[in-house]
Amino acid sequence: MKQITILGATGSIGTQTLEIVTQYPEKFRVVGLTAGRNIPLFAQQIRQFQPEIVAIQDEDLIPELRLAISEMQPQPEILVGAEGIATVAGYGNAEIVVTGIVGCAGLLPTIAAIRAGKNIALANKETLIAGGPVILPLLSKYGVKLLPADSEHSAIFQCLQGVPAGGLKRIILTASGGAFRDWPVEQMANVTVADALKHPNWSMGQKITIDSATLMNKGLEVIEAHYLFGLDYDHINIVIHPQSIIHSLIELQDTSVLAQLGWPDMRLPLLYSLSWPERWPTPWKSLDLVSIGSLTFREPDHHKYPCMNLAYAAGRAGGAMPAVLNAANEQAVSLFLAEKITFADIPRLIESTCAHYDSMNCANPELDQILAADRWAREMVLASYAPSRVLVV
Ligand code: NAD
Ligand code: MG
Repeated sequence: MKQITILGATGSIGTQTLEIVTQYPEKFRVVGLTAGRNIPLFAQQIRQFQPEIVAIQDEDLIPELRLAISEMQPQPEILVGAEGIATVAGYGNAEIVVTGIVGCAGLLPTIAAIRAGKNIALANKETLIAGGPVILPLLSKYGVKLLPADSEHSAIFQCLQGVPAGGLKRIILTASGGAFRDWPVEQMANVTVADALKHPNWSMGQKITIDSATLMNKGLEVIEAHYLFGLDYDHINIVIHPQSIIHSLIELQDTSVLAQLGWPDMRLPLLYSLSWPERWPTPWKSLDLVSIGSLTFREPDHHKYPCMNLAYAAGRAGGAMPAVLNAANEQAVSLFLAEKITFADIPRLIESTCAHYDSMNCANPELDQILAADRWAREMVLASYAPSRVLVV
């Protein structure tokens, strides 16, 4: 039995991971769960999976949670806040921690899990993007594996099984194109939050759905691929593939190209991050190429979607710049979701924040410098969007 802990249990990744746990009751035992604010769902998950320890983000919601699980025997230990979530991440005998928290809020819990020697099933890409320079050395120090759960990186990881060291030449990340892939660029000035939340192929949390509409998600995935697979940025390419059937491809040194295919369903990459190196049977529908008919590809449009180039530039700058890019994006997306800025403001705010940070960037940031860069970038975005705020550097 694999003992597992799930961070962000109530989100899209968290609930799909718990579906897998339910499907394989003989294979998993849930040790710890954490959530943000959805107490009714979280209480139901706690009753169903009976973890030893849980944590929620917000102290004010503790009474509601205690009441909702008051009938349970034994009661799980209940912790609170960022520290409580990090404690759950590193707790007990869990061998693998699924990181389904959204955003850089996942960084400290992920580090706590690594320090406790737990393998990571990585969905929370923002953590690796911001924290790559500190996370990678920790993985080797603690002998921990980072198993990609993001569908593209899972595809690459699956294709790489059996490829000898040095055999990989190039990564080709596929992108659905997001909500606006068929919109002319002139129309995009007036898009609404509701428009941007309509993803054509995947059902996901709000933040990543907006990132898909700006194609920042693909830019972030380029940096994620760089840290996971070690290729330089000239050897990580993006191709638009509207059907989302090929989840990504790798080119080997001899020009052979390998791809991983499947329906757009996150359960498969999540399952593989948990079953690796094994392959477990599932009752899921087999891929039917004839019913799909055709698979098409096109160049990404960098004029319509400036976020991809911003991400390449931040990745190439290295140091804490990806943390700045990521935090600026998180802040801009949350302002867009709150209808305080337009869709086109998102790349504008990120670009100006990264440009201001350039001279402060250092090559090998420590954790506290990454956290400071993250805070600085959020403040910078808030100050630039509302000039009356005083920027504290
Ligand atoms: P979501 O918004 O559906 O869920 C996020 C979860 O994290 C929720 O449980 C929420 O309560 C919790 N949370 C949010 N903010 C928190 C905070 N500050 N502290 C503690 N907990 C917090 O998001 P999601 O779509 O499940 O995405 C989770 C991560 O997985 C993201 O990094 C995303 O990029 C990545 N990812 C998601 C998908 C997908 O299909 N949803 C695919 C690939 C990668
Ligand atoms: Mg992805």
